[in-house]
Formats: sequence, C-alpha cells, structure tokens
Amino acid sequence: MQSKEDKSAVELRAQLDAVRRRLDELTDEVARNDDKMRRTQQRELQLMQADDLDSLLGVLLQGLRISYGLEYVSVVLCDPDYDIHHLLLANGTPAEDFSNLLMVESLTGLAPQYVALHQPWLGSFAGCDHQMICPGANGIRSLAMIPLKHRGKLIGSINLCSSDAHRFTRDHASDFLANLGTIASFCVENTVNRARLLRSGFTDVLTGWNNRRYLIVRLIEELARARRDQKGIVCLMLDVDFFKRVNDHWGHAAGDAVLRELAQRIESQVRASDVAARYGGEEFVVLLPDTEVASAKLLAERVRKAISATRFDLPCGDTVTVTVSIGISEVHPGPDDQDLKTIGDSLVARADVALYAAKSAGRDRVIVAAA
Ligand code: GH3
Ligand code: MG
Ligand code: MG
Repeated sequence: MQSKEDKSAVELRAQLDAVRRRLDELTDEVARNDDKMRRTQQRELQLMQADDLDSLLGVLLQGLRISYGLEYVSVVLCDPDYDIHHLLLANGTPAEDFSNLLMVESLTGLAPQYVALHQPWLGSFAGCDHQMICPGANGIRSLAMIPLKHRGKLIGSINLCSSDAHRFTRDHASDFLANLGTIASFCVENTVNRARLLRSGFTDVLTGWNNRRYLIVRLIEELARARRDQKGIVCLMLDVDFFKRVNDHWGHAAGDAVLRELAQRIESQVRASDVAARYGGEEFVVLLPDTEVASAKLLAERVRKAISATRFDLPCGDTVTVTVSIGISEVHPGPDDQDLKTIGDSLVARADVALYAAKSAGRDRVIVAAA
C-alpha cells in the first residue's frame, strides 16, 4: 500500500511534468512568434529596399509568394491614366511581362470586396467572385485581399492565395497583413514618384522626346549590347539649316512649333527600337542599334525628305520650308573594348564632324563620316 508521503510525491511529480510541458509549449510559441516576426521584418525590409517599380513588383509578386509559402499571389493596380503603364514601359519592362499583375482602368465589378476594402479581407476563395483578380489560379481554397491605398483611396490589392482552406479565414488576426498593406502602399507610391522624377529628368519638355542626358545613358547600354552581340551601332546627328532665320522672322514661338513638328516627322520614320533624342537646341540624334551604314543612309535620306518635302505650318498661318543636314557615323565595339564612354563620345563626335561637312557642302544633305 502507498504511504501518504509516496502519494503526494507522485502528485507533485505529475504537477511538475505538467508545468514542464506548458513551459515547452510556451517556449515553442515564443520561438514561432519570433520566427514570424523575423520573417515579417524581412518582408518589410525587402519592400522598402526595392528602389524601382520593377523590383517592387518582383518583391510583391514572387517575393511574398515564396516568403509566405503560397500557391499564388496576384497584384491588382488601378491605373486609369496609363501612368504606371508608361513608366514601366519607359523603364524597359512592360506591365504585360509581369505575370499576375493586373493593371485595370477601374476596380468596379472586379471583385465584390472592392466596394468596402478598408482592411484586409480573409475568407474562402470563390471562383465567381475572385477569378478575375486571380487569373490562372488553380486549386485555391482561401484568399487574403490586402488593400493598396493612395492618399486614403483604394487603388488595388495584393491577393495572397492558398490551397489550404484554413490558411486565411475570417477568424484570423489580420493586423500583420494590414501592416504589410500600409508599407506596400507607401512603397508603390514612392517608386511611382521616383520613376516619374527620373523620367522628367530624361525628357525634353518642348518635344516630349528623350533628352541628351537620356541619350548618354542609353548610348552606353546600347554599346554594351552591341559588344555582347557583336553588332554595329549607327548614330545620326541632325541639325536644322538656317534655323535662326525662322526665329528672327517669325519669333521664338514659331521656332518652337517647327521643332515640335520636326520631332514628329523624324519619329514617323524611325523604328520603335531606335533611340531618338533632342540633343541640343535644334539638334537631334537617332541611334540605330543592329544597323549597317548602307541602311542607315537610306533611313537618313527618308528623314531628310520627310522634312523638306512638305512645308511646315506656323501658328500665325504662314508656312515655311525647313531643311536639315545629317551626319552619320558607326561603330562595332570589339569584345575586348572596355571604355564604352570614350567609344560613345567618339561615335557622336564623328557624326558631328560629318554633319558639319554636310553644312559646308551646301546643307539639306546626308554625309557619312570616314571610317
Ligand atoms: P546652320 O544651318 O548653320 O545650323 O544655321 P542655324 O541658323 O541653324 O545656326 P545655329 O545652329 O548656330 O543656330 C541655332 C539656333 O537655334 C540658335 C537658337 O536661337 C535657336 N534655338 C535653339 N534652341 C531653340 C528652341 O528651343 N526654340 C527656338 N525657337 N529656337 C531655338
Ligand atoms: Mg545647331
Ligand atoms: Mg542649325
């Protein structure tokens, strides 16, 4: 028979075991929360470190999917003026290249939750309600829609999708996700503003064309590509003939109108892959990647004729004939060429020399620089 002392010792041991188990549970919970906190901080840091739109969208679309271990993530962005569209295009990656990024003109009718999406919405995935915001998603059973806002206004959502029906339910706390949404919204606004600023610094206000700064950056990029692909690049430099006379006779505003029309006429002749820029006052440069001199000369002649063949309308109602002189130079960067800046400067300088040869030879003509 067990003595009274033995019995209380057994009870004590059982109590001790229970306390130990509880302690282990609590330690595990602390470790899990710690891990959750660390991963949340990592995600937020990744978002804040994305300093352009491309990389931010990469973090939102792939980064969050991997970090949360989800089957599918999409981002919906309302872009009624095609502003973000154009910024992405100017940056080199069109919106269509991001899978699961939906740029829409309006959120109306896309998913019922957009009517009042002030906080993250967590719940069952319903094909009829959510297929449009998660195109191509398969086998999804639960969904978290995290609102993206700009100045308090809903501009879209991040949609986290799981095949686990219990992953996102109405009973789950959503403050972590709300926080993620606030940071993501801030980052979207920030990178859009940066892209706008960058673009305005590269854009000529009169013609809407790229400016000289842009050309210098692109020239180095194009030279690096030509070196890699072992292709040539041709540079056309155009200068308006006797442009001072237009200004002197009709005034500066008329001169501006001529420059705008001139840019349009050049643009109508070049390919989308060519890089056209307003280089200075009435000087324009067009870079033709992957082009040989013979075809560049034909293009230059087409541009020259597109300008001289039809008179320009001036705001006062008069018309004027405008001609341009064009200099052409080319380069084939060798695989071992390192100093692309010097190669670029020399390419432009040689086009300039050819341009002045065209001026001296009587203007309204195309001259190719000596090789
Ligand atoms: P050339 O055939 O030798 O090139 O003669 P040009 O009269 O064109 O001579 P030049 O290139 O030296 O003069 C360019 C003029 O272009 C001088 C400047 O007043 C004018 N110009 C430069 N930028 C602008 C602009 O943005 N608007 C207007 N209206 N005129 C400009
Ligand atoms: Mg000039
Ligand atoms: Mg001139």
